[in-house]
Amino acid sequence: MNNISLLSHRKEEPEKGILYLVGTPIGNLNDISQRALNILQNASLVACEDTRQTKKIMNKFNFSNKLISFNKHNSLIKIPQIIKDLKEGKSIAIVSDAGMPGICDPGEDIARSLKSEGIDIICVPGACAAITALVSSGLPSSKFVFEGFLPKKKIDREKILLEISKNEKTTILYESPKRLSKLLKELLEFCGGDREIMVARELTKKFEEHVGNNINNVIEFFRDKDIIGEITIVIKGINKKDLNLNKSIIKKDLNDLIDAGLSLSAASKYLAKKNGLKKSEVYNLI
Ligand code: SAM
Repeated sequence: MNNISLLSHRKEEPEKGILYLVGTPIGNLNDISQRALNILQNASLVACEDTRQTKKIMNKFNFSNKLISFNKHNSLIKIPQIIKDLKEGKSIAIVSDAGMPGICDPGEDIARSLKSEGIDIICVPGACAAITALVSSGLPSSKFVFEGFLPKKKIDREKILLEISKNEKTTILYESPKRLSKLLKELLEFCGGDREIMVARELTKKFEEHVGNNINNVIEFFRDKDIIGEITIVIKGINKKDLNLNKSIIKKDLNDLIDAGLSLSAASKYLAKKNGLKKSEVYNLI
């Protein structure tokens, strides 16, 4: 596998044998870049998650191109075909329904497969809901964690919720409107009602809405509402003071359990499980 590609001196026109991952708008079609339009119009073909969405862009900007479908259901079959086309000298653009391909959308697998074949990939950047929400939230943005959609399985989900509750970095989540209330209740349970949060709904669209400022207020705002539209959630990290407060509570619990007759090892094991820590982390508090 060749990891060194000379990607300088690129031309504006799509080049033979190159795969372009093209970012498209997350709502407002005017957010597409001139470069993205140029690649979509002039690539040998455009592989899209949903041809209807891509046609909307082409219709608005008055051009057309050959479209093929490329999504999570057919990617196993389509990737070898795309590799063959690229090796024969075609230029191919990949677009998802909205935003950046590869971010909770098809794109990641093909990028990995192509890299291992030594084929060049160029990303034409565009809108991304996670970054748009983060920047408009006003929450710390220099260090953040993107978790995408939380897993559905309870045990996996709670593991990540626990990590979020203890993380000092801002976390960004995607969620469907149907499941927002459930997620907010879980965040209340794991992070507490005072944790700062912003729910961004319908970013870049006509009815864009930012709902903050802490979990209690957000739950209150959405109570008994029919929630529709697309949702991204930004959660402020725990601050060091609260984290230390957490540690001093655990330390006190540890001492209480030892006073009540438990061994240090048993008490640490119990509190580690309860607080989602490693046994050694609790043990070392003493
Ligand atoms: N690739 C996309 C990106 O770059 O943001 C994300 C695709 S993911 C399948 C779709 C999820 O992104 C939605 O369920 C929602 O959580 C979030 N999202 C997409 N558009 C949004 C918008 N306009 N406002 C808020 N969230 C949005």
